[in-house]
Amino acid sequence: MTPRSASPAAEPKAMSGHAKSSTYAGMLRNFEAAADLLELSPDLRKILSTTQNELVVHFPVRMDDGKIEVFTGYRVQHNNIRGPYKGGLRFHPQVDIDEVRSLAAWMTWKTAIADIPFGGAKGGIQMDPGKFSRGELERITRRFTFALGNTIGPEYDIPAPDVNTGPQIMAWIQDTFQQTMPPSMRQNCVGVVTGKPLEVGGSQGRDKATGLGVVHCIRMWAEDRKFPLKGATCAVQGFGNVGSWAARLLKPYGVKLVAVEDVAGALADPKGIDPDDLAAHVKKEGSIKGYPRAKAVERSAVMEAEVDVLVPAALENQITGETAPRLRCRLVAEGANGPTTFEGDRILLERGIDLLPDVLCNAGGVVVSYFEWLQNKRAESWEVEEVDAKLERKMVRAYGRVREAAAKYKTGWRTAAYIVALDALQKVYEEHGIFP
Ligand code: NAD
Repeated sequence: MTPRSASPAAEPKAMSGHAKSSTYAGMLRNFEAAADLLELSPDLRKILSTTQNELVVHFPVRMDDGKIEVFTGYRVQHNNIRGPYKGGLRFHPQVDIDEVRSLAAWMTWKTAIADIPFGGAKGGIQMDPGKFSRGELERITRRFTFALGNTIGPEYDIPAPDVNTGPQIMAWIQDTFQQTMPPSMRQNCVGVVTGKPLEVGGSQGRDKATGLGVVHCIRMWAEDRKFPLKGATCAVQGFGNVGSWAARLLKPYGVKLVAVEDVAGALADPKGIDPDDLAAHVKKEGSIKGYPRAKAVERSAVMEAEVDVLVPAALENQITGETAPRLRCRLVAEGANGPTTFEGDRILLERGIDLLPDVLCNAGGVVVSYFEWLQNKRAESWEVEEVDAKLERKMVRAYGRVREAAAKYKTGWRTAAYIVALDALQKVYEEHGIFP
């Protein structure tokens, strides 16, 4: 585990390209903007702009054909001053140390904004899970968990699902972690991961939680703007956990999904695409491809659709200096982490397009992960109504804190959200001081 310094910022490319080496540097530019307004001390800037621990593991796994493959996995722990490290695991070919560092830092800001007693971490494996059998995926996951060893733990660092990892992957991690503990300690380790299946200690409402949080934010924005959601339109990039739930939960408000994109293609229909029906198709077919009740379109038609709300819910660096001038929405509600670059942000602000930043807008997932962790600690199982109501309260308060900071510091919502996070972290450092 080695500390490192950030490289200078440059503008990364959108989905078509993979030049994303500057994602962490882009995050730091937002951090600095907020730190300047908050007049954060130079000492705290040094601490918070650097990750605490970084683990890179290379581990062998036997494939179905009997050959061995060696995989590279990561776990970056950005900060734990407010509580155990917390953050997802991603299985994707683009996963690298820069991406994981950025995602880990965003988790620190997010848990502080949501006011839950966690820090920030993130991890993943650089691979395309679509290329492996179920048996191979299980062995890769279990061997990765073994390689992580005590880097994770229910009171230390608690992973969760992210891109291409869902409840099943979490169940394999939980089981592997428990089996490698002494028998008398295994039951204390149920909460080593969140986002688990219900049967092994998962929480009601965790699957939809991130999408539901996104929808709460959009609803509060609409109330603030006196903008009627009934009859409004939305476009969604990424129709996985976050994107599909956001679209489905917007439906009862009368918001029509008119354009949608995933890794396999893009669809549009000005009359509206039923997100529940599309989700059923994805469950059966694995992607939105071949959906018979909407027209296949160019990918750019989704991001550039003339809609009220655009929900990026796939990967980083989509709304950039290049693409932001072409957006035709009123509001960007970031379901994904880091979908907008520093330059993209500047252009949105200039063009008067409102923004609900990732560290606020997609916090619903980690909030319900916190509830899951609490239930595990207490050996309880809460009703979904209780989980949903508690989530709503957390989102309302977080939204309110960011709105207040935006007004007080006369700044955009991204900077305001970072200010809320840095202010909360600063207060803990002021109380603790630095050991020794
Ligand atoms: P997921 O794997 O369930 O879904 C990802 C979606 O993005 C899929 O529909 C996939 O096809 C699509 N996608 C991938 N590559 C694409 C490409 N090149 N072009 C277009 N679409 C592409 O993942 P998820 O959990 O929904 O995560 C999506 C985003 O939300 C990520 O940025 C993640 O970090 C963030 N997020 C997730 C959670 C959570 O609880 N799962 C919480 C907070 C934030």
